[in-house]
Amino acid sequence: MPFGDLPARLATVRDALERARQRGGHGQAVAIVAVTKTYGADAPNAAWQAGVRDAGENRVQEAVAKMAAVEVPIHWHLIGHLQRNKVKLLDGFHLVHSMDSPRLADALSAYGTARGTPLDVLVQVNVSGEDTKGGYDAGSLEREGERLRGLTGLVVRGVMTMAPFDADVSTLHRVFTDARTCRSMLRDAGHPATELSMGMSGDYEIAVEEGATLVRLGTILFGARPA
Ligand SMILES: *Cc1c(COP(=O)(O)O)cnc(C)c1O
Repeated sequence: MPFGDLPARLATVRDALERARQRGGHGQAVAIVAVTKTYGADAPNAAWQAGVRDAGENRVQEAVAKMAAVEVPIHWHLIGHLQRNKVKLLDGFHLVHSMDSPRLADALSAYGTARGTPLDVLVQVNVSGEDTKGGYDAGSLEREGERLRGLTGLVVRGVMTMAPFDADVSTLHRVFTDARTCRSMLRDAGHPATELSMGMSGDYEIAVEEGATLVRLGTILFGARPA
């Protein structure tokens, strides 16, 4: 059976996640988004059978092809950068985590307006200030939070961030705390921002300690990714 050890891996992760949740004391519910990018359609199927209800993909075209091959009603999350000319492919997605610029926000809102149902999105924030990472600067959020309220084709459900690769533990805590602050800023600006998407296979416990509500887990569940 493909991914036969997934139930055991999931049990280990859920256990660690619950302990991190207790340590953090934020009292949040945490959902696992199984990141199925580069794996075949058997990955989301196996995740669903093991009780996971959310799957994440970072490329919209790969995701759309996979959706067509998956019959279980798993919720699809877009977690990677999206080009503005591809917003029309978003119909099968439950949540876009990677709204990483004002221009993309405009395109996403136009799409939500055109289809008649606002699109649920997270604002991707670049709190570590790395040049190589996309996302809104924390410093721009006060202004942008206001502006986003005018975009009626989308609903800002929260914040997503990625920690720097190879960061030490104290840096990870700082990055995730800063992301939580960004979520508060969006809430203060009037958005229904309850979600905090942060934490991957290597750092999800720290993210959950800092209040993550969605952890995006790939290799820890499915093993090394096919090239
Ligand atoms: C690939 C990916 C993940 C999952 O990474 P793992 O280290 O395999 O858990 C999470 N978030 C994003 C944005 C990704 O692209």
